[in-house]
Amino acid sequence: MSRVTAERVLELLAVLRSGGVEATLDGGWGVDALLGHETRPHEDLDLVVALTDVSRIQEVLRPLGFVLHEDQLPVRFVLRRAGEQLDFHTVTFDSEGGGVQPQPGGGSFRYPPEGFVLGRVRGESVPCISAAVQVLCHLGYEPTGKDTHDVLWLCRVFDLPIPKAYLSDGDASAREGRPMLDGGCLCGGVRFRISGKLGPAGYCHCKQCQRASGSAFAANAPVRSRYFRLLSGEDLVSEYESSPGKFRAFCRCCGSPIYSRRESERALRRIRLGTLDAAPARRPLAHVWVGSSAPWHAITDSLPQYAAGLPDGAT
Ligand SMILES: [Zn+2]
Ligand SMILES: [Zn+2]
Repeated sequence: MSRVTAERVLELLAVLRSGGVEATLDGGWGVDALLGHETRPHEDLDLVVALTDVSRIQEVLRPLGFVLHEDQLPVRFVLRRAGEQLDFHTVTFDSEGGGVQPQPGGGSFRYPPEGFVLGRVRGESVPCISAAVQVLCHLGYEPTGKDTHDVLWLCRVFDLPIPKAYLSDGDASAREGRPMLDGGCLCGGVRFRISGKLGPAGYCHCKQCQRASGSAFAANAPVRSRYFRLLSGEDLVSEYESSPGKFRAFCRCCGSPIYSRRESERALRRIRLGTLDAAPARRPLAHVWVGSSAPWHAITDSLPQYAAGLPDGAT
């Protein structure tokens, strides 16, 4: 399945609207509309529509090549064209503006009237399902990595309590007083959690860090591998072997560095302080590999400088 881009979302909503169909973003694109930016790649597009619009939707989208792929009406139906999937959740609107969707196992789910809100895709206002309802819809089953990614984003940004099923060992450690740091890449596809202390951080001026960061130096800190956990985007992480036995992991989608690891030091990973959401308790304590520092950059702080690595090899 290929990727549904932001441009494609806007295009499809416009086509539906031109055919008189009001569709509300749900699922992953609904989450990103709430957040106002694309936090991860999307393989499909979920839309809430009126059950009475089903035949009109098929008519409007047929010229674009979409054909019926799955018919679970009155619950949902799926349209597909080469590599693109549209998942329609069909509801019957009640007098209050709530949308009632029958459930496959009997019973029904009601999107409350206040559950229909506006979000933004590429700065354009679009109808979407509210954060509270989105979180509600993510309960009652074993969450996937994508579910965890979406729910944690929503809870963090909209200040909602994290549901129990989405609390991790890391959250438990936070309650026990162990520090917990979350971080992620630029596109948001890769999210990680460090549930333990960072080791001694340093500014590394080696040429590899210059190339890998595109800047004068990198701010790195080691962390015990057992404290480091990917929350989402495992499939986006690629590792590049920058020197024999040393791997630099990065997000395939946006290029952000995620961690580095050495085969000879399996207990440790190194992360970049700039990928963390919040400030770590420890500040970098030295400049290392200044022997190869960028000639166009001057170090102006008073931290110790080492021509190569730290004397104990910590960074
Ligand atoms: Zn990324
Ligand atoms: Zn370096």
